[in-house]
Amino acid sequence: MSDGQVMVVSNRLPLSTTVEFGTLKVKRSSGGLVTALEPILKDHGGIWIGNGGTQEDKKMVRALEEEARSNGFECVPVFVTEEEDRNFYEGFSNQVLWPLFHDFIGECRFEPQYWEYYRRVNGKFAEVVMRVYNGKQVLWVHDYQLMHVAGSLRERGCDGRIAFFLHTPFPSYDVFAKLPWRRDLLLALLQYDLIGLQTERDVRNLVSCLRRLVPEAPMTTEHGVHHVAWHGRKAVIQDFPISIDFEEFAQAASNLAVEERMRTILARMGMGQVIFGVDRQDYTKGIPHRLRAYGELLRRNPGMIGKVKLVQIVVPSRQNIPGYEALKSRIEHLVASINGEFTQPGWVPIHYIHRAIPREELLALYRAAHVALVTPLKDGMNLVAKEFCASRIDDRGVLILSEFAGAAAEMYRGALLVNPFDLEGVADALDQALQMPVPQQQERMRKLRRFLKHANVHRWVQDFMGEIEPAMAARAHR
Ligand code: UDP
Repeated sequence: MSDGQVMVVSNRLPLSTTVEFGTLKVKRSSGGLVTALEPILKDHGGIWIGNGGTQEDKKMVRALEEEARSNGFECVPVFVTEEEDRNFYEGFSNQVLWPLFHDFIGECRFEPQYWEYYRRVNGKFAEVVMRVYNGKQVLWVHDYQLMHVAGSLRERGCDGRIAFFLHTPFPSYDVFAKLPWRRDLLLALLQYDLIGLQTERDVRNLVSCLRRLVPEAPMTTEHGVHHVAWHGRKAVIQDFPISIDFEEFAQAASNLAVEERMRTILARMGMGQVIFGVDRQDYTKGIPHRLRAYGELLRRNPGMIGKVKLVQIVVPSRQNIPGYEALKSRIEHLVASINGEFTQPGWVPIHYIHRAIPREELLALYRAAHVALVTPLKDGMNLVAKEFCASRIDDRGVLILSEFAGAAAEMYRGALLVNPFDLEGVADALDQALQMPVPQQQERMRKLRRFLKHANVHRWVQDFMGEIEPAMAARAHR
């Protein structure tokens, strides 16, 4: 048994520093992962290890340490050189694993030095872990950037319990097999004691890759949980669909300022219905397909002109990577072309916002929307779909959800599922959603909210911890 301590290892730290008017400020990240993990770190005096960037600075390290300590845990940054960042992060993580795991083989650049740097930087993380590891902590490593950390830790003599959670999808064998380092990556994964994936489909894909590429590893399956033996270790593979802090969203959405902002948005929009999309600027999110489907809806239903609006927020992301800039031009071209085709004095069909928006504004938009259009071409989970429903304290609104988002496996009963590649199908779903009678919206939304209330992110942590450290899960916050 561990002494109850947990060490979280992720590419991002839960805290970041900025310099404002010459003063160093520490900011807490607002993501769901931080909200979910902070309580267990606080309770057990845990440690969070993450990328501190390329500029090692003693003042910054001290500021991070102090802020973390005042929150009840330790924070240890790992510094990488610019060359490492280019090859490990922009290279292997975001131009090999990210596109490969989302079935975008055409975006992959299989440069041999990327793999070398991936292993090197994962090794750097392992070294920092070893500096603070007391031989008893449970290690929880996150996401595709750090799949090799357990392998690097075992090479350094670490024999403790190490768990891993992949936030992205895991691809089918036909896609994964194209990776030049496919077997090495799988063998590195087998150094974890627990491998958590988002959905059963991802588990099936990983299991079939292991069967084909590491056939000598004996595998047993019991109640949908797979056990793979490898050189004296046994890795458990299981799905743990991630979620959000339902109560926190529901509460924040009912806040007076959000309510007022929602009314202002609706008043400015006039009497029409609002369709809402919010995504990072990423080719996996299917933004151009979505815009074209919306154009198709207007073309087919001239009666809707002047009566509906699409608010599409695109949050800039990974701007140093070639495909991402091209995507921006494609989106802007489509917005201009659809707006050019349909705009009338006093009405534009698409309100396009290319920046991150404050949380209050996001919640107000979730509440103001008649339809949330969540149509990624492939997505590990998609938290926007869950946040939208949690924010609908009025039980109204319709979620149109891509069947290729991890969230579809859980939310198919209340959402309208679509194939995002089928423009006419998405236009049909939009039509259906915009015309859906209120009682039917309520019935669907209540189903979704009931499910999310139960399957929240605290339950996710508890289930995951329960698999690796039952004693800790029993004490995890709910
Ligand atoms: N989000 C944000 N700022 C914005 C718009 C969205 O922080 O201006 C958040 C949103 O609330 C959600 C996350 O970004 O939690 C997007 O998560 P998702 O799983 O949908 O996609 P990802 O970007 O992780 O691929």
